[in-house]
Amino acid sequence: MILDQDMKQQTKTYLDLMEGEVVLTVSAGEDALSKKMLELAHELRELSPKIHFEEKKLARTPSMQLSRPGETHGVVFAGLPMGQEYSSFILALLQTSGRPPKVEPHIIERIKQLEGTYRFETYVSLSCHNCPDVVQALNMMSLINPRVSHTMIDGAAFKEEVEAKGVMAVPAVFLNGEMFLSGRTTIEEILEKLGQKADPSFLSEKGLFDVLVIGGGPSGASAAIYAARKGIKTGVVADRFGGQVQDTLTIENFISVKSTEGPKLAAMLEEHVRAYEVDIMAPYRVHSLTRQEEEGLIYVTLENGATLKSKTVIIATGARWRELGVPGEAQFKNKGVAYCAHCDGPLFTGKDVAVIGGGNSGIEAAIDLAGLARHVTVLEFLPELKADTILQERLAKQSNVTVLTNVATQSIEGEDRVQSLTYMERDTETIKKLNVDGVFVQIGLIPNTEWLEGTVERNRFGEIIVDAYGKTSLPGVFAAGDCTNIPYKQIITSMGSGATAALAAFDYLIRQ
Ligand SMILES: Cc1cc2nc3c(=O)[nH]c(=O)nc-3n(C[C@H](O)[C@H](O)[C@H](O)COP(=O)(O)OP(=O)(O)OC[C@H]3O[C@@H](n4cnc5c(N)ncnc54)[C@H](O)[C@@H]3O)c2cc1C
Repeated sequence: MILDQDMKQQTKTYLDLMEGEVVLTVSAGEDALSKKMLELAHELRELSPKIHFEEKKLARTPSMQLSRPGETHGVVFAGLPMGQEYSSFILALLQTSGRPPKVEPHIIERIKQLEGTYRFETYVSLSCHNCPDVVQALNMMSLINPRVSHTMIDGAAFKEEVEAKGVMAVPAVFLNGEMFLSGRTTIEEILEKLGQKADPSFLSEKGLFDVLVIGGGPSGASAAIYAARKGIKTGVVADRFGGQVQDTLTIENFISVKSTEGPKLAAMLEEHVRAYEVDIMAPYRVHSLTRQEEEGLIYVTLENGATLKSKTVIIATGARWRELGVPGEAQFKNKGVAYCAHCDGPLFTGKDVAVIGGGNSGIEAAIDLAGLARHVTVLEFLPELKADTILQERLAKQSNVTVLTNVATQSIEGEDRVQSLTYMERDTETIKKLNVDGVFVQIGLIPNTEWLEGTVERNRFGEIIVDAYGKTSLPGVFAAGDCTNIPYKQIITSMGSGATAALAAFDYLIRQ
């Protein structure tokens, strides 16, 4: 049995929403994975009379194509679409059956306008949290425009292909056989890359907001809910809803929820915000912000050229991975240098990897990788690890991990992919080389605030300086979460600061 009782129940609830018939074409061989794929197809067929099944050879085995009856075109899943990709698979089933995708009409129009032939192939790992967004975007494009085809390929099931194509980070998207993009990407970004530029005028026509939140992580979501509950016109403009939570695996310190997973929490955040009258504008990046003194209004310009206008703004743009800045890091990005252990870890199964950084995220990554890699070496610059004791204790239980402290990484070397890294033992200044296939950089975060240069006051780390109410140096502009100088950067603290900033913004509005 592939689906347990709970999954069957949940899947049936979704399949009951199917609008039309769908044919599952399975390309199966004699291998164990093919047998599982056939089993999955039969289990699904039992859950919905709208699902039909046939066996036929496709380009890859095992794989499964979803198409409408009488059509040859359809999205393909090569390898078993379980783990993080199960939701992509169920969504593709629903959309193939005729359920309209949840995407704005202007995006659908841009997809329809694509001319030419686009054969997309996306290599994923089933534990990658960044992959489903890309898989779902390309599946949707394929269902909207028959000139676009898409195959999701589980790298673990097609190892030789992955090796031959040099895929070392997922998601890795190939277009007509050539590398097209890597990493989490939105449908908007894919369209831009294909030359289908957006017309930003509909954003500029949004009218005046009372509160405009920039950022859709925990702090932005919390600020938006608190503002909307005051009955004022609230908007959220965000590059990627969910923020860092999307990159997190297990969360055990979000009080009242004993344990959850990042993408699950991110989806719940979005659902909660959508329960209110909040205008969510995503995925759009903000370029700059100015305050018009006479009007007392704030103008927010997006990277696509649109301008939004608001009486108050809450900046909640969070933080991103810090880069090491040593020779070889940029050259081998996605060719062995990685930043997300949950996403790219499975590509290093049975290989030797290094984790740079001995803080919480570094040690979490090392524990995660120890279950997959042959050997993990942790390199920490300081004389001791900085991670919480509980994590250090868990790490100590791993038999295939070596910890090097008081070492400085000097460079990353290789030919077409990472082969080694060089570090210096800081007490003796001895230079040493470590043969590794992958380097996971986990040395903390930097605030996403560069775009505020010359507007609000920031400290030497680039964090926005706020007072106890979340006020910044600019009247009407508030800030919350990881992009500010609040002392501890956590989900719960960022949500708290988002709520504070929204209440302070409301207070500011009623005094104007
Ligand atoms: C691997 C990892 C594990 C973690 N584990 C935990 C944990 O177990 N427990 C815990 O409490 N915390 C954990 N954290 C920390 C927690 O995720 C953060 O403290 C929290 O997400 C901060 O929320 P935020 O809303 O301030 O920022 P973020 O989550 O960073 O969100 C920022 C938002 O702003 C958007 N944005 C950025 N720049 C722009 C721009 N120019 N224009 C438009 N939008 C923009 C982003 O797309 C995003 O929507 C973890 C973090 C990481 C990276």
